[in-house]
Amino acid sequence: MSRLVMKFGGTSVADLDRIRNVARHVKREVEAGHQVSVVVSAMAGKTNELVAYCENISPLYDAREYDVVVASGEQVTSGLLAMTLQEMGIPARSWQGWQVPVKTDGMHGAARIMDIPPDNLVSALDRGMVNVIAGFQGIGPDGRITTLGRGGSDTSAVAVAAALGARCDIYTDVDGVYTTDPRIVSKARRIERISYEEMLELASLGAKVLQTRSVELAMVHKVPLRVRSSFDDPDSPFQVTEDGRGPGTLVCDEDEIMEQQVVSGIAYSRDEAQVAIRRVKDKPGVSASIFGPLADAGISVDMIVQNVSADGVFANLTFTVARKDLPRALKVLEENREQIGYEEIASADNVAKVSIVGIGMRSHAGVAAKMFRTLAEKGINIEAITTSEIKVSVLIDEAYLELALRALHSAYGLDAA
Ligand code: ADP
Ligand code: ASP
Ligand code: MG
Repeated sequence: MSRLVMKFGGTSVADLDRIRNVARHVKREVEAGHQVSVVVSAMAGKTNELVAYCENISPLYDAREYDVVVASGEQVTSGLLAMTLQEMGIPARSWQGWQVPVKTDGMHGAARIMDIPPDNLVSALDRGMVNVIAGFQGIGPDGRITTLGRGGSDTSAVAVAAALGARCDIYTDVDGVYTTDPRIVSKARRIERISYEEMLELASLGAKVLQTRSVELAMVHKVPLRVRSSFDDPDSPFQVTEDGRGPGTLVCDEDEIMEQQVVSGIAYSRDEAQVAIRRVKDKPGVSASIFGPLADAGISVDMIVQNVSADGVFANLTFTVARKDLPRALKVLEENREQIGYEEIASADNVAKVSIVGIGMRSHAGVAAKMFRTLAEKGINIEAITTSEIKVSVLIDEAYLELALRALHSAYGLDAA
C-alpha cells in the first residue's frame, strides 16, 4: 500500500464547511487504497491573531511562551478534522507535534526539525487509521513546544513524508505553482513541473506558496511534491497520467523536466529595507567593522553594493536587511559609529526585491541585461542587484512593484495566452 501525506493550508480549513471539504479529499485517497497521513494548518487568520496577542502583551516576548500560544491554532484544526473523518466512518486520530514526536532544535519561533521517529505514525497506519497531524509545531530538546516559522506546516508535511517514505501533496488556495504570484499578475501561468532547485530559489526569494525549508527537505530526501488546490471537486479522483501530468504542479528533479524555460518564474518580496552608509574610509577591514556587529546581533544582510568615490579615499555602502530588523540594524550601526567611521546613514523601508529565476540562465547570455532594459523602459530605477547561477534580484521602489512584475512577466514570454 502506498503512503501519502496530504497537507491543507489555512484557507483550506478556514471554517467547518471547508474542514468537511478537506475530509472528502482525504476519504477519496483512503478509498483509493492509500495509507494517509494529513498535516493541517490553523484556520485562516488564526495564527496572525495569536501572534498579535503575543505582541500586544509583550513586545519582547519570551519565545518559548510565544510558541505555546501560536501552536494552538493547529491543535484545534487537527482535532476538528479527526472528528469530521470519524463522523464519515473513517478511523482517524489527531497528533500534536510532541506526541508524534516531531523533534526539533531549540530555536523557538523558527525551529528546525531534527528527527521524526516514524514508529507511532506507522503503527497507526497499519491499524487502518488516518493520522491527522498538527503542522507548524514540534518539541524541543528541553521538552517544550516549538514552532517552525511562518508557513511551517509545509515543512511539517514534507518532513513527515520523508520519515514515512511517502509522497506529499500540498493542498492550497491556488491550483499549483505559477510563473509569478497569480494574485498580482493576472496573466501568470500554472507551471506543470518545476525543479527543486528553481522552487527553492523562488520560495527563498518570496514566493510564499511553499516554505523554503520544505523545498530544501523535499530536495534532500527526494520526496515527490505536488502543489494543488483544495478547491477542486473532492470527489473527482486524482488522476496522474502515464507521462506524469496531473493536477497542480509537480516539484521534481531537473532531469524529469522536458522543456526548460530560460526564466521559469518571478518572485518578489516586500520584506526589505535598505541602509546606505555614506563616506566610510575605503580601507581594509571596513566591511568587517560594519557586517561583523550586524551578524553578532543576529541580523542577516542580503544585497550589498559598494561605490568608491572619485578620490578613492571614501566609499559608500548600501545593503538590505529584513524590514523587521531595520530598527535594530540602525541601532547597532549607531553603537559602532566610532569604530566604523562613517559620515551619515540613510535608510528606507519602501523598497521591494524582484527576482527572476531559471535554470536556463546557466547556459544563456543576456538574461540579466533584458531585465535591466525592461525596467529602464518603464522608468524604474534599480537600487541594488545580486545574482547567482540561476537568479537575478533587483531592489526597486515598492511603488513600482506591480508594474515591474507585469513588465518582466511579459518580457520573458511568461504571459498566459
Ligand atoms: P496556505 O495557507 O495553503 O499555506 P499560502 O497563503 O501560504 O497558502 O500560499 C499560497 C499563496 O501563495 C497563494 O494564494 C498566492 O497568493 C501566493 N503565491 C506567491 N507566489 C506564488 C506563485 N509563484 N505561485 C502560486 N502562488 C503563489
Ligand atoms: N499557521 C502557520 C502560519 O500561519 C503555519 C502554516 O500555516 O503553515 O504561519
Ligand atoms: Mg503557507
